[in-house]
Amino acid sequence: MESVDYIVVGAGSAGCAVAARLSENAACRVLLLEAGRRDNHLFISMPAGWGKTQDPHSRFNWAFETDPEPGLGGRSVPLPRGRVLGGSSAINGLIHICGQREDYDDWVVAGAPGWGWAEMAPYFRRIERNLGSAASGHGREGPIAVSDIVDPTPLAEAMIRAAEQAGIPRTSDFNGARQEGVGYYQMTADGARRCSAAHGYLRPARGRANLLVRTDAVTTGIVFDAGRATGVRYRHDGREQVTGARAEVILCAGAIGSPQILMLSGIGPAEQLRRHGIPVRVDAPGVGANLQDHVVVPLMWRLRDGQPSLNSRLGSVRIVLEVLNYLLRKRGAMTIPAADVGIFLRTREELTRPDVQFHVMPLSGELDSDARKLHPYPGYTLAPNVCRPTSRGQLSLASADPLAPPRLQMNYLSTQYDIDTTVASIEWARRIAAAPALAAITAAETCPGATAGTRDQLIEYARRAGTTGHHPVGTCRMGADEGSVVDTTLAVRGVAGLRVADASVMPRLISGNTNATSIVIGERAADFIRAGRR
Ligand SMILES: Cc1cc2nc3c(=O)[nH]c(=O)nc-3n(C[C@H](O)[C@H](O)[C@H](O)COP(=O)(O)OP(=O)(O)OC[C@H]3O[C@@H](n4cnc5c(N)ncnc54)[C@H](O)[C@@H]3O)c2cc1C
Repeated sequence: MESVDYIVVGAGSAGCAVAARLSENAACRVLLLEAGRRDNHLFISMPAGWGKTQDPHSRFNWAFETDPEPGLGGRSVPLPRGRVLGGSSAINGLIHICGQREDYDDWVVAGAPGWGWAEMAPYFRRIERNLGSAASGHGREGPIAVSDIVDPTPLAEAMIRAAEQAGIPRTSDFNGARQEGVGYYQMTADGARRCSAAHGYLRPARGRANLLVRTDAVTTGIVFDAGRATGVRYRHDGREQVTGARAEVILCAGAIGSPQILMLSGIGPAEQLRRHGIPVRVDAPGVGANLQDHVVVPLMWRLRDGQPSLNSRLGSVRIVLEVLNYLLRKRGAMTIPAADVGIFLRTREELTRPDVQFHVMPLSGELDSDARKLHPYPGYTLAPNVCRPTSRGQLSLASADPLAPPRLQMNYLSTQYDIDTTVASIEWARRIAAAPALAAITAAETCPGATAGTRDQLIEYARRAGTTGHHPVGTCRMGADEGSVVDTTLAVRGVAGLRVADASVMPRLISGNTNATSIVIGERAADFIRAGRR
């Protein structure tokens, strides 16, 4: 049987960091298994390509779906996740956010000592190669390139001015000393080219003889010997294969993949495993619990005719010119990530830190996000989400078939706090849209529309329009307590030789987008492993 020192399952944000760092030691043999394929595709490298890879039919997307969500009027929500080298960092919206320092200090309070801001800050610097205008304190030598927006739309300045007029201070750096403010996002890109974790970590490591990267390899379970993980079972080349791990197996399959693989391997809630005929190795009720995600509520306005927005530039003929502009000059609409402008604000004066984030987009489209059809007129979207939602869901097995998607019940908008803060965020969006810089060029609010005036109508709209913020986390919670799935060195409780390192270990969602934090978790896992080996 083939055998290596370390097997890393999943080549996503965290997995690429783990595999690249462990293979820096030429004496260690590392196998990186990825269910998806290689990543050489324009829709991955070109920032605006993320609109295409989100499509449920994209071959780079697992295209999960939630169960019907009671808090969203019984709708199931599509949940894209990257299935490709780079994982979700290859299909995400490219927005680079580290979160608030209090987020990590809260992790310590929640029972994860050693994961406070003091410990995390050096890692955020380590992963980053900031090529843009961000102030001092950023990494300049790391593997993940971070750039300024290349070609902001003319509308962006009007949006920033309007937010300032509404009382939000302008910021040049959401990852600086203070997150609060309105300004341009930075993106994980080398100029106008996406820098996924595969791009940043695996490409430079590609010449290493001790790093094996196997794509189209779907892990179906972990092999154990007397309570120790000794290898991995996976489907590759049309057959079931097993590779041994002399030192450790590290699961980096993401907040959906990692708990599923644990459960398929007998680590999970005993009752649930028995129901599916899976022998119980460790009764771990925490596996799959604590599922959290941001819920985004898109609000849209129609601009006066002739005003600049991406609606006309992304129409059927013009989009060809935009793609050409990207290919030839690396300029234009295709260089824009999920949003060019961001806002972090406090919905109430007495709060000490932002409780709402906005993605501000220079376009508008049909609410049915599956179709992603742009309006035939110019428009813009303000898309707020609660920074730290308190709703919790769970992931459970739909079947013991490793190829069947698990069940995802997110329980979006199920707490009073989430509902109240969402309503406050909609009111803030309207305040920004009514400020002179936007009011002067706006024709009308289209979604929800000016007739939705009462609190109940706003809640009804949030339930009708709310959708995933693409940040599921928490399903293999890290902590010092016995109820956590992994300890604070990310080792799985109840077995030896097995860790989880990805977004699933976050005890709580951070205030912002989750890619950078997931990469940092991968970096820290590699350090724990290397320290143990020494
Ligand atoms: C559409 C979208 C937009 C987003 N926008 C942003 C953004 O703008 N900014 C930001 O910071 N964050 C964003 N995110 C979130 C961010 O990308 C994720 O939080 C982060 O990538 C998670 O990293 P991870 O390592 O936990 O998982 P992933 O990066 O998802 O990696 C998991 C990997 O494991 C593989 N895998 C899963 N199961 C198996 C198996 N059984 N066998 C083998 N391999 C397996 C997957 O194919 C995948 O490659 C977005 C995410 C999505 C999907």
